Amino acid sequence: MTIGDDSEASFSAILKDLLNRSATTCVLTMEHWDRLANEYSEDIFSEALYHMSRLVLPAPEARDTIQAILQHQDGLCQALGRNVSLVTAMCDYFMQVNPLLREPILVEVNLLRQREESAYKDELTGLFNRRSFNQEIPREMERFRRFGQPFTLLMLDLDHFKDFNDTYGHSAGDQVLRDVAQILNDTARLYDRAVRYGGEEFAVILPQATREEATGVAERIRSSMARHQIDFAGRKMPPVTVSIGLACFPTDALDMSTLVQRADQALYMAKVTRNSVRPFCDHQRNHTRYILSDPLPVRLSDAANKMYAVARDISFGGLLCETDMPVARASAIDLVLTDSVLGIRLPIRAQVSRVMSHGDTYQLGLSFQLPSVEDQKSLMALIEGRTEPVPYCFHPDQRPPTST
Ligand code: GH3
Ligand code: MG
Ligand code: MG
Repeated sequence: MTIGDDSEASFSAILKDLLNRSATTCVLTMEHWDRLANEYSEDIFSEALYHMSRLVLPAPEARDTIQAILQHQDGLCQALGRNVSLVTAMCDYFMQVNPLLREPILVEVNLLRQREESAYKDELTGLFNRRSFNQEIPREMERFRRFGQPFTLLMLDLDHFKDFNDTYGHSAGDQVLRDVAQILNDTARLYDRAVRYGGEEFAVILPQATREEATGVAERIRSSMARHQIDFAGRKMPPVTVSIGLACFPTDALDMSTLVQRADQALYMAKVTRNSVRPFCDHQRNHTRYILSDPLPVRLSDAANKMYAVARDISFGGLLCETDMPVARASAIDLVLTDSVLGIRLPIRAQVSRVMSHGDTYQLGLSFQLPSVEDQKSLMALIEGRTEPVPYCFHPDQRPPTST
């Protein structure tokens, strides 16, 4: 589904009802479909085709196809002198008129769903698997682009799990993994997605959770694990602790692999002490800094002056720019970021956090906050396509000790 979470359930229910009615009669006209598309989203055409045939077509093409199928259904109804269901008409259409399906088979939808679901589930824990994760993260990113819903990713790794297996046996270890799944499910909200990422590593996708909220969720998971006594085959075993790293989209990364990498880096830092939670932190900064390959024009104004500057690097918490006029440290400043090609004009209230003079030019470090999702979306569009994230490297002293 690509429409918002709240309407997702009702959209599915309406689609199901529509298709059920179409299964026995040919009363649903193109006007019915269009009215529904207006009310919800034109995605309804793609969703309906996918539901009935597993064909994936973009919305405009899906609409044309459904219109053609309805005409075909009408023709069949008249020729046979009785009702022909949408599914029957579709089958004939895709085999005879527009042969997109070569060898269709009939299968009960619940059975198909079961099979499809098991491809996305981990057998041992019942959690979603890595395949599902790889699909879900891009969907969440798309949700941000369309509906402005940011999200946070938690990456979890059990502490000293090899020792646990060696001491209590692999089957007891499997029980721990099932217990972790239970704790993740108990902690998760309706739209959170808990995933077994691999081995003794887990991930949780938290839609609409800020860094602070996600840290709270991670802390609850960590403390539940630390209190949870393992009970297996009548034996009580000590708790297994978990280390958790987290990274936020879009403030820490703008693509999937960087986001996972950031959360992994935070996890790596959590492993320094183990049994702990660490949000991603780019050295002393709270946000990932993006070097601008194409400098960004910035208009600055304080109480006394208006000036032009160019930004060389930027993050969701500040930017570094060059100008030819001095500005007092700690002063408030209004800045406007613009991109005429993208049609973006983003005014921001900032504070001067650093001033360095280089002969006639001044380098200014400006800090700001972008609480509005609309502003975050604009900044993301400004950054995307013209930047490379600054490579992150660990300070050698910060490397966690090995598990042995
Ligand atoms: P650290 O605190 O550094 O993460 O130490 P660790 O021992 O957890 O890390 P390491 O990567 O050395 O060990 C991971 C262990 O997880 C080794 C492997 O036997 C165990 N493991 C992975 N998958 C499974 C599984 O499906 N069942 C069981 N019982 N153990 C598993
Ligand atoms: Mg591991
Ligand atoms: Mg581990």
